[in-house]
Amino acid sequence: MSDAARIRVRGQVQGVGFRPFVWQLAQSFDIRGEVLNDPEGVLIHAQGADLQAFVAAITTDAPPLARVDAVETAAFRFDTPPESFEIAASQGSGAETRVTPDAATCPDCLADIRGDDPRRRGYAFTNCTHCGPRFTILHGLPYDRAQTTMAGFTMCADCAAEYADPADRRFHAQPVACAVCGPQLSFEDGHGAHPEAIALAAQRLKEGAIFAIKGLGGFHLCCDATNPQAIETLRTRKRRPVKPLALMGRWDEITAYANPSEAERAALASVAAPIVLLPKTTPLPEALAPEQNRLGWMLPYTPLHHLLLDAVGRPLVMTSGNLSGEPQVIGNDEAREKLAEIVDGYLLHNRDIARRLDDSVMQVTPHGPMILRRARGMVPETLPLPPGFEDAPQVVSFGAHLKSAICLIKNGQALLSHHLGDLDDLLTWEKFVKADADYAQLFDHQPQVFVCDLHLDYRSSQHAAARAGGAQIEVQHHHAHLAACLAENGWPRDGGAVAGIILDGLGLGTDGTIWGAEVLLGDYDGYTREAYLRPAPLPGGDAANREPWRNLFARLDQAGMAEVADARLAGQPLTLLRQAMAKGVNAPLSSSAGRLFDAFAALLGYDGAQSFEGEAAMALEAMATRAPRAEVANAYPFTPLPDGALDPAPLWDAALSDLEEGLGPDIIALRFHAGIAQAFATQARALTESGRAKAVALSGGCFQNALLLDLTIEALGDVPVLLHTKVPANDGGLALGQAVIAAATQMRRR
Ligand code: ZN
Ligand code: ZN
Ligand code: FE
Repeated sequence: MSDAARIRVRGQVQGVGFRPFVWQLAQSFDIRGEVLNDPEGVLIHAQGADLQAFVAAITTDAPPLARVDAVETAAFRFDTPPESFEIAASQGSGAETRVTPDAATCPDCLADIRGDDPRRRGYAFTNCTHCGPRFTILHGLPYDRAQTTMAGFTMCADCAAEYADPADRRFHAQPVACAVCGPQLSFEDGHGAHPEAIALAAQRLKEGAIFAIKGLGGFHLCCDATNPQAIETLRTRKRRPVKPLALMGRWDEITAYANPSEAERAALASVAAPIVLLPKTTPLPEALAPEQNRLGWMLPYTPLHHLLLDAVGRPLVMTSGNLSGEPQVIGNDEAREKLAEIVDGYLLHNRDIARRLDDSVMQVTPHGPMILRRARGMVPETLPLPPGFEDAPQVVSFGAHLKSAICLIKNGQALLSHHLGDLDDLLTWEKFVKADADYAQLFDHQPQVFVCDLHLDYRSSQHAAARAGGAQIEVQHHHAHLAACLAENGWPRDGGAVAGIILDGLGLGTDGTIWGAEVLLGDYDGYTREAYLRPAPLPGGDAANREPWRNLFARLDQAGMAEVADARLAGQPLTLLRQAMAKGVNAPLSSSAGRLFDAFAALLGYDGAQSFEGEAAMALEAMATRAPRAEVANAYPFTPLPDGALDPAPLWDAALSDLEEGLGPDIIALRFHAGIAQAFATQARALTESGRAKAVALSGGCFQNALLLDLTIEALGDVPVLLHTKVPANDGGLALGQAVIAAATQMRRR
């Protein structure tokens, strides 16, 4: 290397303190020249004797929030030799100035709020280049203070000096603030506003009160997680009878009540600070997550949370602050209006939230970390597309309906949006339309291709049709799940066919029935349906999604066990439903794995209606997880039929005789899990053994069931397996699969 070079750095290198980092490196290696941002990332012109070591340190010492994808060097000649190292003005317009995700409070800022400097001690909005709010305070690009909800706060002289000093940790930290100049907390209750916000809120929480707390991406509802009475009150007022509540605790509390593994600790401590599902060890009130083996925990991720947790000294419930079915509240007035019936007070502040982001959710399975809900701290991070998609057109895809998210493709990258939620809710639907416009503007996106599900009754599909003027590309739901798994694993476009085991809720099939438990063989360009769960009616249509017993009824009748159905479901209107099913009225055929789980949960005594999606299946997973693993050897059988259908009829016989013999429900639940895993794994394995498939991909919402995932991988044996880690296996990841399939389609047409 000569002593001068042009150095290009690619990756997540803007808005993360990269230029001051390079400036400081230059000082320590005695390098002269300049560093600047441009549309491709960071550009450095450098001269000095130690150039090689300087270049190496760019990767090895990069700042915490940076991700260096590539460092490219080329020879360079300065017109006039530089005498110092400068941070130069940004170059180029239309720059894809990256916005990084929101990041949890860094150790240095935590030390500041516990330290002696009166500007930061106890100050709830302390942040720096390595941490703090980003995407949640951003109105539009470029990412600078004027475009954020910090625009209204004028920096004091001290903050301005930190902001301007390349040697300072807060150099160019857009939300920089202190107690003198920045946002302020307030606590309100029935007696008005109080200045000692944290201390008073902590005291009232310990007395059993319920608060709305304004966080980073929205409001939380909060109460003492060790107080059963407070939890019951919260559940009653929020009309949320059993759905698990998330907890926030410091390391002390988390290790006292759970026993996180190394991998779980790493997930908790990541800059996204997600909710991580951890096995219950030391008991907390059962009402936090009835019937579940696990609790969702997160660490405090803003100074406000740290200060509150320090003052309370016990774990807190932190569940999203919304009315049932609606999106999380983000505005102060909105909170006072909507949450008044639920809470005893409000811990507020005067920094606005520009965009709503739920907490992200993860679990660690025996096969590694898995993202269940992709939101705060994880967006707007892009995923590189697999080889073969370099020339993909700009695509936008709109996902499904219940766990909606959209996906944009541009420049060989996919941007999967945050979790947007259930489009049946009108407010969520409005947010969905806004998110479409919002992401397009943020990423300077001009889509040529619009993509949706085959199911044209979905609001997301109608939106695609409207945007495309009727020229949208429609993608089969489970093909999209398969492609999402391939794309996230970087499976090349010409990598060959893969066997996809897709175990899911509901998705419209090409034959007009509703699919949901399939073995597909294919790739981005197409697929065949090689095996599937034998379809059964959904008696009562939508009602069958809420009431598990309806699926048990349909499956028992199908298996020729009508008298068993009559005996076990004596109180239900079976005669009417049989008449309707015989005429095909309101009884669509479905091969859904989710509904088979529901049916089985009903057999084990789950009666009534589910209060949230997946309730019965989650209870079944929790039961099966408690059973001795050796019971896998007694998996319930399925019968493969000549047309590719897998008939579950024999499993009912087997399970009923186990019940009659008095076998415990935990063991029966495990034998059921193992039965499904083995039946589908056998089909997929046959495709790899015959050479038709190169690997097996696992996708669909049921693979968020960690036990089912593990049993399926075990049953597959030594074949290569692709699974979801970064992109949700459920419909939250669907849009990624839709987008790559449509990109492949479009590239074939060219
Ligand atoms: Zn910091
Ligand atoms: Zn200040
Ligand atoms: Fe799905």
